[in-house]
Amino acid sequence: MSDIAIIGGGAAGAAVFGSLLRRGAAGTVHWMTGETPVPGRGVAYGTQDERHLLNVRASHMGLYVDEDEGFAHFCARQRPGFPETDFASRWLFGDFIESQLTSRMAEAAAKGQPYVLHGLEAVSVAPHGGGYEVKLANGDALRVGAVVLALGILPPLPFSGTTARALASGAYVVDPWNLPQYPSRPPHRVIVIGTGLTAVDTLLSASAWWPDAEFIAVSRHGLWSSVHAQAPTTVFASQAEVNAALLSCRSPLAMLRVIRRTLRDHPGLDWRSLIDGMRPHNPTLWQGMSEAGRRRFLRHLRWLWDVSRHRAPPRSAAAIQRLLDSGRLTLRAARVVGIDGDGPLDVMMRTRASGEPTVLQADMVVQATGLNLSVALSDRPLIMQLLRDGLVKADPLQLGLSAEPDGRLIDAQGHARPGLYAIGPMLCGNLWECIAMPEIRSMANELAYALKKAASLVVA
Ligand SMILES: Cc1cc2nc3c(=O)[nH]c(=O)nc-3n(C[C@H](O)[C@H](O)[C@H](O)COP(=O)(O)OP(=O)(O)OC[C@H]3O[C@@H](n4cnc5c(N)ncnc54)[C@H](O)[C@@H]3O)c2cc1C
Repeated sequence: MSDIAIIGGGAAGAAVFGSLLRRGAAGTVHWMTGETPVPGRGVAYGTQDERHLLNVRASHMGLYVDEDEGFAHFCARQRPGFPETDFASRWLFGDFIESQLTSRMAEAAAKGQPYVLHGLEAVSVAPHGGGYEVKLANGDALRVGAVVLALGILPPLPFSGTTARALASGAYVVDPWNLPQYPSRPPHRVIVIGTGLTAVDTLLSASAWWPDAEFIAVSRHGLWSSVHAQAPTTVFASQAEVNAALLSCRSPLAMLRVIRRTLRDHPGLDWRSLIDGMRPHNPTLWQGMSEAGRRRFLRHLRWLWDVSRHRAPPRSAAAIQRLLDSGRLTLRAARVVGIDGDGPLDVMMRTRASGEPTVLQADMVVQATGLNLSVALSDRPLIMQLLRDGLVKADPLQLGLSAEPDGRLIDAQGHARPGLYAIGPMLCGNLWECIAMPEIRSMANELAYALKKAASLVVA
C-alpha cells in the first residue's frame, strides 16, 4: 500500500501535498481538505481583511523548500514596488499558496503522478493490513500506507469563567476569526481579552467596521506584542556562542539569565536579533527541558516569550498606536475572572497593580487569548476516535499530540506508530517551534522524503 493520506486543508496540508507531488510518490496522494472553501489557505490565510498582515517578512515566507516561485517575487508581480523585506497581507500569501498548488497539480498531472482532493472531513483512521483505513464524513473509506495529520489549531474553547447566559447572548465571541462584521446592532463598547497578535488583528478590523465604538484590551500583564524592526536586523556576531551557552542550560530561568547577560554585555545589540538567532535551536532547547521545567516555563515565562518572539509588523503596531492616541482604545493590565449577562455583558476582572475587583460593561466581548491545542477537550470526531482507540495520546502539557521529533505520533502504549505522522501546531509539545511557515515547509519537505523512502521500501 503506497498511497498516502494527508488530513487537513490548511497551509501545512498544502505544503506536504505539494512537496509529495514534486518528489513523486509511489502511489496516489489523497488530500482531505475538509469543507474549507479554498484548500490551502486554512485559518491564517483565509482572512479577506487586507489589514491582517503576515508577521514574517515576504522574503522569508514560502510554501515549499524547493519553490516554483518565491513569495517575494510573487508579491513584486502582484504589487509592483512592494519591498521584499516588508510584511504583505495574509490574503496575498493565500493567493500565493493557491498559485503554487495549481502549478504543482499541473506538473503532477503532466508526469502521471496520481492525486485526489477530497473536500470532506476525515472522521476516523484505523490500522489496516500494515497501513491505515481512513473514513470520510460521507462514509467512503480509503486504504493507505501512511497518514499525515495536518489538523492545525483547534477551535477556541470559551474561557472557563463565562456563564452559559453570556455564551447564549451572542455578545460573547469565542472565535475571533469569526467576528461578525454585521451584528444586529453595531456595538458601542467592545472588550477584547488578549493583547497578542490575534487581538491586534481583531482591533484593526473591528475599529474600521464600527467607527463609533470604543475598545478596551485586557491582558494580565497589559503588554502588546513587541514590534518588528523596520529593516531586518543583522545577525549577531556571537550568536553561536550564545546558542551554545543556552544549550548547556538546565532550566528556562538559566536561559533567561544568559539572554539578559548577553544584552547587558552588548549594549548596541538589538534583542530581536538575539531571539531570532535562537530560532533554529528552539526545538532542541525545548526538548532539553524536563516536563517540570516546561511547566515552569509555561507558567512563569511564556508571556515574556510570546511578547518577544511573536512580533507585530510595524504597520499594524502603528495603527494600534493611532487608536490608543485617539482615545478610542485603552489598555488594561488585569485578570479577567468572569463574564456574565445577556447583553450588555459584565466583565469581572482583577486589576494587576492593586488586585482590586472591577466590573466593566461591554456590548461585545471578543476572546483573543491564543491557540487551543488541548486535544483531550476536543469534540472533533477524528481526534476523539484516535484518542479513544489509543492510536495517539495527548501531550501531557496540552500542547497537541505526543510525537517524535520527526513527526511520528506516539500511541497510548508509548510507541511511535509507523506511518502515522503530524505536522504543524499539533507537534508543539515535542518541538515548540513548529507553527509558522518557515518550520512547516522544511518539515513538509522532510516528511515527503521520509514517506517516499518508506513507500519505495514497501514496493521493493
Ligand atoms: C491568525 C494566524 C496568523 C498567522 N500568521 C502567520 C504568519 O504571518 N506567518 C507564519 O509563518 N505563520 C503564521 N501563522 C501560523 C500558522 O499556523 C501557519 O502558518 C499555518 O497556517 C498553519 O497551517 P495548518 O495547516 O497547520 O493549520 P490550519 O490553517 O488551522 O488548517 C488546518 C485545517 O485542517 C482542517 N481539519 C481539521 N481536522 C480535519 C479533518 N479531520 N479532516 C479534514 N480537515 C480537517 C481544519 O478545519 C483547517 O481548515 C498564523 C496563524 C494564525 C492562526
